[in-house]
Amino acid sequence: MSFSNVNQNRIAAEIVDRTSGPQRWTDYRWQLKHSIRDIDTFSRLTGIIFPSDRRERLEQTLKKFPLSITPYYLSLIDRDDYKNDPVFKQSFPDIRELQISRYDMHDPLFEDRDSPVKGITHRYPDRVLMLLNSTCSMYCRHCTRKRQVGDPEAVLTHEEIEAALDYIRDVQQIRDVLLSGGDPLMLDDSFLDWILGRLRQIPHVEVIRIGSRMPAVLPYRVTDQLVQTLRKHHPLWLNTHFNHPCELNPPASAALARLADAGIPLGNQTVLLAGVNDCPRIMRRLFHKLVQNRVRPYYLYQCDMSEGLSHFRTPVGKGIEIIESLIGHTSGFAVPTYVIDAPGGGGKIPVMPNYLISWSTNKVVLRNYEGVITTYKEPDSYEPIFCDRNCNECRLQLDLDDAEEYNVTGIEKLLSDFDDAVSFTPAHTDRLERQEQREREHE
Ligand SMILES: *Cc1c(COP(=O)(O)O)cnc(C)c1O
Ligand code: SF4
Repeated sequence: MSFSNVNQNRIAAEIVDRTSGPQRWTDYRWQLKHSIRDIDTFSRLTGIIFPSDRRERLEQTLKKFPLSITPYYLSLIDRDDYKNDPVFKQSFPDIRELQISRYDMHDPLFEDRDSPVKGITHRYPDRVLMLLNSTCSMYCRHCTRKRQVGDPEAVLTHEEIEAALDYIRDVQQIRDVLLSGGDPLMLDDSFLDWILGRLRQIPHVEVIRIGSRMPAVLPYRVTDQLVQTLRKHHPLWLNTHFNHPCELNPPASAALARLADAGIPLGNQTVLLAGVNDCPRIMRRLFHKLVQNRVRPYYLYQCDMSEGLSHFRTPVGKGIEIIESLIGHTSGFAVPTYVIDAPGGGGKIPVMPNYLISWSTNKVVLRNYEGVITTYKEPDSYEPIFCDRNCNECRLQLDLDDAEEYNVTGIEKLLSDFDDAVSFTPAHTDRLERQEQREREHE
């Protein structure tokens, strides 16, 4: 499948026929205005017709999650083989979205529960997710936030935004703010300028990140004016979302080049999707094309257990197989971290093939990507440094003026020398309940 100007011209001409005004294919406002939002328009523009019983069920899926495809993204669909087309599968509803399996959850990541104020998800110690709007130019059928995305009314009010900013200002630990949504680049440039400026005024916010699918689904949104606005607020990072190499065609490359030229470090988050990219060769091509465009593959996500996504999910083994095909075989910076976002709000958990095969008190046994088995001999003498957090007495140098004091949590706490914790126990176990029962009886 290749990028097709023929499709573009035909779709543009067809849209212009039905609307007045000049054709402005590369004007993102024109693209937004003419996004395909119903099945009739989709059929008219693509010539792809659905039998009436299927039509009816497709309409039902739209009641649960809206349809929106930019004319640009629509033009990437290969009409002659649409059933296997990765762009079609990501953007056009599937009647299997109506199936809810017993494992599907409304909010699998507990984003709502980890929300201290509206618009903020605060899960990790030093960074927060800020959700300002719920709209996107193209609605990914695999969206994990289907429950809240797509509602144009669900924009934060001015007061709610101020409350969210207050929260960030009050919590000193927050050094990284991630704007997500919806797609934050649906907001206009002046609003982005305002919100980024407000965040920049908070001294402890060291970096700001934007998560946006625009470079893939509406690359014309990345205008010179947008880029001039974003670069005023450095250090600013941008993570985008490409899932298939066919999405990386000339307009997308031009958008990425504009962002990279503005000094914005670019990352990419890919979702592993059955029938779209569950193939080591497709993934390798995608990651190679991304690094050619100065985009670092950041995360490969296991598809979440959100309602109506079962037909997109793969076994975890598929992801491990993909990572196995990359590590060692290609540039280290072309390999993303494969993560499972823990159901129940545990956050992202990295998973990898095993490279450490065995170990003794003085040797570890490792294997490489070729299957070579090797040993690493550990040092005969290593003077461990027992940290009591008194850097003045430690022979290592740490300039405490710059070093931020922090609490240890999690497994890091178990490993530390200055904390007495030796184990973590779930709050409710039968054993603990029996203990409590006995204690009550003895009272
Ligand atoms: C993914 C995510 C982040 C950012 O995590 P990184 O690993 O730093 O990219 C922050 N907050 C929430 C709730 C997230 O889901
Ligand atoms: S761009 Fe992101 S938030 Fe919007 S529909 Fe796609 S996955 Fe969901």
